[in-house]
Amino acid sequence: MSKIAIYYKKPTSETIRFAARELKRCLEIMTDESLDIHPCTTFPDNNKPAIWIGEPSDFNNIIPSNNLDDEILVTQNYGVCMITGSNPRSVLYAVYELLEKFGARWIGPGKEGEYLPKAKLDNITKIDVHHHASYRHRGVCIEGAPSIKHTLDMIDWMAKKRMNTFLLQFKTSIFFWRKWYSHSYNERFMKPVDIDESVSLEMDDQVIKALEKRGLILHRVGHGWTAESIGIKGIGWDRFDGEVTPQQKALMAEINGERGLFHGIPINTELCYSNNQAFEGLVNHVVEYANEHKEIDCLHFWLSDAPNNFCECPECRKLSQSDHYVKLVKAVSKKLKEINIKTRIVFLCYTNTLSAPVTEKIEIDVDNVVFMFAPISRCYIHHLTYKDCESGEKADGWELNKIQPPHTNEAFVEILRKWQKRYDGDSFIFDYYLWRPLHDYLNPLGLARIIHKDMQDLMQLGLNGHVSCQVLRCFYPVGLVMDAMAETLWDRGVQFSDIVNENLKAIFTDEADIVLNYLEELNKILSPESGHVGTLRSGNAERINSLIAILDKWEPYISSLSDSKNSYNLMHYHKLLRFRALSSFHEAKGEKEKASAYIDMMIDYLKRTERRTHRYLDTWMEMHTVGRA
Ligand SMILES: [Zn+2]
Ligand SMILES: [Zn+2]
Repeated sequence: MSKIAIYYKKPTSETIRFAARELKRCLEIMTDESLDIHPCTTFPDNNKPAIWIGEPSDFNNIIPSNNLDDEILVTQNYGVCMITGSNPRSVLYAVYELLEKFGARWIGPGKEGEYLPKAKLDNITKIDVHHHASYRHRGVCIEGAPSIKHTLDMIDWMAKKRMNTFLLQFKTSIFFWRKWYSHSYNERFMKPVDIDESVSLEMDDQVIKALEKRGLILHRVGHGWTAESIGIKGIGWDRFDGEVTPQQKALMAEINGERGLFHGIPINTELCYSNNQAFEGLVNHVVEYANEHKEIDCLHFWLSDAPNNFCECPECRKLSQSDHYVKLVKAVSKKLKEINIKTRIVFLCYTNTLSAPVTEKIEIDVDNVVFMFAPISRCYIHHLTYKDCESGEKADGWELNKIQPPHTNEAFVEILRKWQKRYDGDSFIFDYYLWRPLHDYLNPLGLARIIHKDMQDLMQLGLNGHVSCQVLRCFYPVGLVMDAMAETLWDRGVQFSDIVNENLKAIFTDEADIVLNYLEELNKILSPESGHVGTLRSGNAERINSLIAILDKWEPYISSLSDSKNSYNLMHYHKLLRFRALSSFHEAKGEKEKASAYIDMMIDYLKRTERRTHRYLDTWMEMHTVGRA
């Protein structure tokens, strides 16, 4: 018989039953004791040590219930450890945070990423926690080339690190599933598997079930509406090979005197929004989809994914791009309210809509929308609020279809401030740290530091969280970047050094300080002293040569590491970085053939080693970053 049993009141949600099972599973591994789970109608009053787990209503509303904002409470009372949270998802977070205080670490995806050291079960009754999440939105958006297993492992990790949101892009995420399952970027890794739309939708459903099990928040779609609303498929960046009818053409944006698909790609095409049929058709299409998909908490209503493709007809010219967009968003919001659909609509500041609206405003009564700030071309060498990250770029005032998105951060903050004058409701940033920047600059420590600072600053920027547009295999060479994101969104007071030390200690134990020195020395040289791009892209041969010298200096240490699962990724990273550095060095000296030969070697290495790295590194994205996929 175990010393401590876990109780929850029945009936309860799937998420709380899962939370109880997770607590039992991890505690049994950590303590070598067995724990029973007892569903009960009332909690036992027998003075025996116990763990009680449930929603606030099970505990006389000791904290308020709240579906949007996460709060957790672990408190001890006469030998009873009581675990609760503001909603079922938060109860699960309370379990994971309790396990962390007990010594657990979640250093990578899936069970393999669990670090569960031995501990004494009695100590569970000495832990108190009370915390409000610093931000409402703490999410990840699907990108890159993931398998369903990679994705489910990522969602599992996200819940452990108290992230709460997942965005499945497009009406089905087939574009991303196909990248993995066709595996055309590395045919020697696996046989291609054909994914049609029904298989893709089944995979989406598996993702949604995994989110529901944990009480996480589902976001869906994004781009594609403009094409879909006029009957053309828009579920990826593919070219359209069918026939566009004259009726469809008449609804599309007119550019340089002509209407049609923008460079042949449906999702990159805008419509003629002053055309009532195009406007109403788009609005109704979004509303109908929301009505058919009540599983979606937040439906992303984005326009096309290309810049400078807005309609130039005389009627459309009367309003700015963002004014057209806000009119569409408000029309969708109004119709959803009329038919009593609770889904919230996410709209964004991005490419065509960088400039704030001029005539339109979104008033406080439009309370079923969320604003998303997506500074895709920003600088990732500096944090967002760094004052000297500026180069005199414009923050608005571009002529129609002549927008030049900034590459420095001061202009982006100005863009955000201007939008906030037209709307001050719920909002989050949608950023791209683990899309190309990590793979391009290969500076995990530097990027983690930028993320930590940015996530701290979101509050002063008036943004209530972050949804990260990123690959789902993102623990390369270590999970430091993800850790910094998740930890700081959960608690913006967390110290960066604590995040780094805890992460590296769990992976490298006694060697953690040496690995930190290695990453720190690389960080100093990978992030340039001036400029806004990483050293590998700087074209500065002298600086790249210093990078190669640092890699040489560390070569004996890296070679001395064992081939264990914890060290392998670091050894792999060291080698990959050397190929990239040598290529960049020759590129900077104008030696194109030599530069290309090192990229060939790097690609071959990535392909040969994908079997070992695929859970941690998105090989497709790394290849894509150097133009080879
Ligand atoms: Zn027009
Ligand atoms: Zn900068």
